[in-house]
Amino acid sequence: MQAAADIFFPSLCFSCESKLPDNRYLCIKCRNQIQFLNPPLCRLCSRPLKINRTGLCKKCSNKRCSYNRVIGITAYTPPMQTLIHLFKYKNCDYLINLFSSLITTYFLKTGFKAAGYDFITAVPMHPVKLKMRGYNQSMLLAHALANYFKKPLKNGIIYQTKLRASQTRLKKEERAKNTNEMFTAEGDLTAKRIIVVDDMFTTGATAQGCSRALREKGAEYILVITLSKA
Ligand SMILES: [Zn+2]
Ligand SMILES: [Zn+2]
Repeated sequence: MQAAADIFFPSLCFSCESKLPDNRYLCIKCRNQIQFLNPPLCRLCSRPLKINRTGLCKKCSNKRCSYNRVIGITAYTPPMQTLIHLFKYKNCDYLINLFSSLITTYFLKTGFKAAGYDFITAVPMHPVKLKMRGYNQSMLLAHALANYFKKPLKNGIIYQTKLRASQTRLKKEERAKNTNEMFTAEGDLTAKRIIVVDDMFTTGATAQGCSRALREKGAEYILVITLSKA
């Protein structure tokens, strides 16, 4: 049966579509192309740094934001661009298996253990969008991280209350303001140290919107972990 299935549906690399000898997602060449963001990294945007005493890149040295730290696991370069696109927009939720192995590889190597954090949560999705997509990809990643760090995973802490309007025509500042106002948080989070998980870190506007909402409920320290950093 297996052989017959292979003839009609051979496993192909998700990135370069070369034929694979087994049911992995990537060929060895594409797997080796994934660029992990190894420390030292800028504390607020995860950009790789040369040895830097402040732990901040030039761009972030005067930045004011509600989160305290960002850890990006990989650079948003091939094959991550393709994989994340499939994960978000093409129903490839099973790619979480591959991403879980990247998470494990990365944190074993860096030795980061998330000691002192109270719980893990994810950037939420608007209920309308969630119904259309069927899953929240950031919540799948948060689940994998909660397993790895052995920390509680909490759903229903942050809510996206507004749908993202088509932002292309808005100016950069308006776009950031828009995103900032999309989120609210629930419950008393006084003195809580929270890990917020997102699939991507681009401008940081989503991380800021979620963190601002958590701060309003008393959160003390917010670490944002993202699978990829653009
Ligand atoms: Zn490949
Ligand atoms: Zn930075």
